[in-house]
Amino acid sequence: MQHTKTDTDVLVVGAGPTGLLLAGDLAASGLRVTLVERRPHGISNMTRAFAVHARTLELLDARDLADELVKTGTPLSGTRLFGRLSLDLSRLASRFPFLLITPQYEVERLLERRAQEAGVEFRYATELRGLRQDADTVTAELADPDGHVTALTARYLVGTDGLRSAVRTALGLPFPGVSVIRSIVLADVRLAQEPESLLTVNGAGDTFAFIAPFGDGWYRVMGWNRTRQVPDTEPVEIDEIREIARQAFGTDYGMHDARWISRFHSDERQAPAYRSGRVFLAGDAAHVHSPAGGQGMNTGLQDAANLSWKLTSVLRGDAADPEALLDSYQSERHPVAATVLRSSGAIIRLAMAHTPLQRAGRALLTRFLNSARPATDKVMGMISGIGIGYGAGPAAHRTGGHRAPDAELVGGRLYELLREGAFVLVTPQGTELTPPGAPKTPGRVATAAWADPARRTAMLVRPDGYVFWETRIPASA
Ligand SMILES: Cc1cc2nc3c(=O)[nH]c(=O)nc-3n(C[C@H](O)[C@H](O)[C@H](O)COP(=O)(O)OP(=O)(O)OC[C@H]3O[C@@H](n4cnc5c(N)ncnc54)[C@H](O)[C@@H]3O)c2cc1C
Repeated sequence: MQHTKTDTDVLVVGAGPTGLLLAGDLAASGLRVTLVERRPHGISNMTRAFAVHARTLELLDARDLADELVKTGTPLSGTRLFGRLSLDLSRLASRFPFLLITPQYEVERLLERRAQEAGVEFRYATELRGLRQDADTVTAELADPDGHVTALTARYLVGTDGLRSAVRTALGLPFPGVSVIRSIVLADVRLAQEPESLLTVNGAGDTFAFIAPFGDGWYRVMGWNRTRQVPDTEPVEIDEIREIARQAFGTDYGMHDARWISRFHSDERQAPAYRSGRVFLAGDAAHVHSPAGGQGMNTGLQDAANLSWKLTSVLRGDAADPEALLDSYQSERHPVAATVLRSSGAIIRLAMAHTPLQRAGRALLTRFLNSARPATDKVMGMISGIGIGYGAGPAAHRTGGHRAPDAELVGGRLYELLREGAFVLVTPQGTELTPPGAPKTPGRVATAAWADPARRTAMLVRPDGYVFWETRIPASA
């Protein structure tokens, strides 16, 4: 640990899902963490996201939260896009071979509880107004609701403050991109008639719409009508979304009692840099895209899991090359969000296809994907996060490579062992070794043996569940 006097080790700005996971991880590893949030306590983000993907559930499993979250929602093991393209999620090689439909506030509730238990200092109704940094510290200007401004000094600061990030603005970073879709209407409603499938997506004429159940009697409906493109401020009534549903599905399923209804537009934007000195960006502060594919919150949570162990390693003094390790956050996570921008953009553009040529192109693509299983597996791997890795070659040896799937070990599962927040070294039974580059700090590497005595590999798994180092062990060793 370095010794410059600061008020906290890490200041996290924004208590959305990204900030809550990050702050909880850092505090669980023994660091001093302050989390500031502009909203007063108890006023949630409402429920923007509603889909939690398999890889995110694995990360939550590594924090002992997944089984509890799964109980709050509805697992969806398959879906059909554009009326033709079948995605069979039960084929995913994961303990969670499904998409979990659950409101964002359930994810936030569990992450907030964990962060509180881990000792994060929460400051609600506190807004970051500006920041400055020097070689050793970063100082934030924080304002309370009466406008009183105080300074707080930290070793590092992470901006998880969403689309209009004040941290990104204070760093002078641009947020280049475009608006991809306008006037999407969203409502959480009850239905008199249950849809025939769990996730209903369709487009017809000038509309497309989507319905998913939360599992507690409420449904999320989103709809878009090419012929009604108005600003977000234009009032929206349930009749507008009923009409879109009737055009897209042939029925409005008897929608009634909207508890939330709004109109929004969606941008595709990404910050060119995720790090500036001692300040990082994560989640929507770093990248935004259309809700197609349900990936925003999932990508933010994975950013947080990638950054938290790196900051921990650096602050605890067990990183061989601290600057390279911190830079690897950008080199690993920036390309992932760039891919998400491209894929969610492609889905939304395919959904909006309306000229005969565009529709023919969409039909051709979905026919191809339906008939080519490796291609659909690739699509599912990317959307679910299961297929995301951090490259191969020498760099991968230093900072990580492919995802480590869960595995039975003597005395438990890999993802149960990852709950300690440390690296995990897994070896064949009866083998002892020290992997190159493994942290030397006591307690930073947990060890275990494969339950399967025939397994002849050794693997050092990073705290975020990616492989740091791997080798084959000859049977005689
Ligand atoms: C309609 C819709 C549907 C979506 N569906 C999905 C889905 O199914 N799956 C999915 O993965 N994603 C989905 N998303 C995206 C998802 O909601 C976001 O990606 C996610 O909320 C981002 O989390 P975050 O923590 O990065 O940012 P946010 O949730 O935006 O949190 C940022 C926090 O920072 C606080 N803050 C802002 N400025 C300051 C400041 N200056 N000082 C202090 N605090 C500040 C804010 O009050 C807020 O609480 C959807 C989005 C929309 C709009």
